[in-house]
Amino acid sequence: MAVANTRGIWLQPNGGTCTRTDCHPHRPLKLVLLGAPGIGKGTQADMISDEFKSCPLSTGDVFRAAKGADDGRLGPAMQKAINAMKQGLLVSDEIVVALVEERARCLNCGYGFMLDGFPRTVDQAKALDDIFDKLGIELDAVLNYTLDKEEVIKRLSGRRTCRACKKTHHLVFDPPRKEGVCDACGGELFQRDDDQPEAIRQRLQVYEESTRPLEEYYAAKGLLININADGTPEEVFEKTREKLTTV
Ligand code: AMP
Repeated sequence: MAVANTRGIWLQPNGGTCTRTDCHPHRPLKLVLLGAPGIGKGTQADMISDEFKSCPLSTGDVFRAAKGADDGRLGPAMQKAINAMKQGLLVSDEIVVALVEERARCLNCGYGFMLDGFPRTVDQAKALDDIFDKLGIELDAVLNYTLDKEEVIKRLSGRRTCRACKKTHHLVFDPPRKEGVCDACGGELFQRDDDQPEAIRQRLQVYEESTRPLEEYYAAKGLLININADGTPEEVFEKTREKLTTV
């Protein structure tokens, strides 16, 4: 699938030439997705990508891919980043910004993009503004998914991720046909380290302290669009599609 190719490119620094071959969109959408961990941003990113073609670019995916490839040759910076991730803490702004800069070609993508999990602090947002200025890119909108905290915890603790294709299932809302096995590719489903209860509490607290202020930052720029993430993925996508028609 074309999106998988694109993801592969994003996961590597200087990762080669993008091989997408699906149609060029009418207008490439350039979006940032905000919302607490587990709220369903990744799922919405996939659905938006299917319809509008923009590439989902998740910084969390980059760290998880590096962790999966860990054969003792990870540099000290990436090792530190992965340790922070396992505990539900944020990776330092310096490392994340460097990682996005190394992949800036994906921001110039003719299909547009959706940044998922970046920026996560006001300093990261300012660094992103600088990157956009250098590249001559203007953001279209920031989609901010909102949901009650208890519901977010329920969504996160039931999430299971495929080791092979990274698709997520949910034990209650989207159970796999066969227990422990990914519907999409037959890979093994597992619970991410940072989806364990202690790490979940930590991540939600970090979100409130470090990421919530971004709502004000982007509202002041006239870019913020709030979307209530209550309901099924399809229902939330309907609301998203409706909002995107105004962008
Ligand atoms: P996510 O998949 O977006 O929930 O990211 C998983 C983890 O990766 C986070 O809990 C952080 O430890 C780390 N991470 C991903 N993106 C960032 C970012 N922009 N800034 C700091 N840490 C990040």
